[in-house]
Amino acid sequence: MLAGRKVIITGGSSGIGKAIAISFCKNGADIAIFSRNEQKAKDAVLEIEKNKKNKNQKILYKIVDVSKSQDVEKIIMEVLEDFKVIDILVNNAGITKDGFLIKMKEEDWDSVLDINLKSIYNTCKIVCRNMIKERKGKIINISSIVGLVGNSAQTNYAASKAGMIGFTKSLAKELALKNIYVNCIAPGFIKTDMTGNLPDKIKQNILNNIPMRRFGKVEEIAEVAVFLASDMSSYITGQVITVDGGMVI
Ligand code: NAP
Repeated sequence: MLAGRKVIITGGSSGIGKAIAISFCKNGADIAIFSRNEQKAKDAVLEIEKNKKNKNQKILYKIVDVSKSQDVEKIIMEVLEDFKVIDILVNNAGITKDGFLIKMKEEDWDSVLDINLKSIYNTCKIVCRNMIKERKGKIINISSIVGLVGNSAQTNYAASKAGMIGFTKSLAKELALKNIYVNCIAPGFIKTDMTGNLPDKIKQNILNNIPMRRFGKVEEIAEVAVFLASDMSSYITGQVITVDGGMVI
């Protein structure tokens, strides 16, 4: 479904981002993943490459901190030298620095907002120039149900993920006539490194609030990303698709 499409996936070195890269690779795309960690990125590329549909598919990694605007611009220009166009941008890189507001350090507020939210300004601003020139593009932002309903001890994370939703809706309106689609996926609780370290008691409490009574798999997010990146979603823009086992109904 994505044969020959040129894709950037931020945070493609693990968890949801890597699963999206694997699914896109299975569907024939050329992919550049962004990560801060060279070894992790190299290992991810080896794993993603095993899923190539044809041997000419390119799977690249770029080392960049997505919160740094000048570095992001430089790296996207490097990808463009190779790919010439960017058809699909997946803004997936994200972190948590949880804590109750009265104890939250300013640096924990700033880093979560910078990495989760400022990053999409950094990437979209540059990638959109190319998409507008080509008059086509798909942007998929990985938000969270926490951006829709909030969560105790996650004011920074919730603000960043709600911000992504407002950004998505605004950019979708701005670019609809340019044939550029902008949508969000809002995952519920998905099994990854980000959620793996939570205490068992908290995991059990979350499980009790999931109507399907199970955590999500990264592949279940990746399948929705393939749909939003493909021509099958040709009349969908500015939307937030929750993938959460029924947590937010
Ligand atoms: P993860 O396994 O910890 O992956 C996070 C990814 O983001 C890694 O590839 C990491 O790459 C990258 N990253 C973090 N900071 C970065 C930075 N400054 N610059 C570049 N890359 C950076 O987490 P995940 O669970 O897959 O989460 C992926 C996205 O889904 C996040 O945006 C998260 O908020 C969202 N989400 C997750 C869940 C869940 O239940 N897991 C639920 C809702 C939303 P390196 O470490 O290699 O740099």
